[in-house]
Amino acid sequence: MSLLSVVVPCYNEEENVPFFYEALLKNQVFFDDNKIDLEILYIDDGSVDGTAAEVRRLREKDERVHLVSFSRNFGKEAAMFAGLENARGDYIVLMDVDLQDPPSLLPEMFSYMEQGYDSVATRRVSRKGEPPVRSFFARMFYKLMKRISRTEIMDGARDYRLMTRQMVDAILAMKEYNRFTKGIFGWVGFRTRWLEYENVERARGETKWNFWKLFLYSMDGITAFSTVPLMLASVMGVFFCIVAFLMIVFIIVRKLIFGDPVSGWPSLVCIILMTSGVQFFCTGILGQYLAKTYMEVKRRPIYLVKEQF
Ligand code: UDP
Ligand code: MG
Repeated sequence: MSLLSVVVPCYNEEENVPFFYEALLKNQVFFDDNKIDLEILYIDDGSVDGTAAEVRRLREKDERVHLVSFSRNFGKEAAMFAGLENARGDYIVLMDVDLQDPPSLLPEMFSYMEQGYDSVATRRVSRKGEPPVRSFFARMFYKLMKRISRTEIMDGARDYRLMTRQMVDAILAMKEYNRFTKGIFGWVGFRTRWLEYENVERARGETKWNFWKLFLYSMDGITAFSTVPLMLASVMGVFFCIVAFLMIVFIIVRKLIFGDPVSGWPSLVCIILMTSGVQFFCTGILGQYLAKTYMEVKRRPIYLVKEQF
């Protein structure tokens, strides 16, 4: 027998918890045929509704259900980390509770594991049902990341992923506080098979990500997996030096040939405004990295547990 740990982050998802359980167990015949034992870890990310109560109710009839309940909302990244830390399985799969990660894909994912892959990851090829502005910025983000980071981060990649114990141990060895799992998966390497599927809309309830949250998350992604923005300051510095040099040459030559009627304080104001703007911008970038470093050296725990079984 091998053990499969299903890690499910939940934040205010009381209506989805039992439906997810049912949908997952539609695979029971497959699990039995392939001698796969199951444990289901619901990670309650500080929900204020009846999410934990729903999980307790499931536990009464099924011993395989587990709960890790946070003391407050720590975010999905922390929930996934807690799930991976508490999973005991030989195989571990991360899934959303809202059924956007269809459990019906599991048999196919396992078939690839048997071919020797360390991980089977999923990506959605369409984004239908999502606000167009959000899709646009998501695409831009992945394009940018491709250019400025050496870690592979796949456009449309979900966190829905089946992994071996070995790969999960590698992920757990990365103890960073600012977690960007989509990058961590790529960073640890291992043989990954990508599975594509059409976007599925959320079963019940509302998405927990608004535009601002996603924007901050993308900043986390950039600072965690690229230092190219830091180089921007040096590049701009060199650029402005060259421009200044050309202007000096131009002014000297003009003085020698035509003499110099004094003029040009408006242009001076423009130049000062422009360069000080660039300086603030670069200091801002430095500040972003410094802030992340500050949070990192504090070594705060990634999550705090209130209740667990
Ligand atoms: N989630 C979480 N903590 C949060 C936000 C979300 O654990 O702070 C969970 C949520 O319950 C769901 C998954 O992460 O299982 C994905 O969230 P959601 O469906 O809202 O995101 P979307 O699919 O719209 O990107
Ligand atoms: Mg969702």
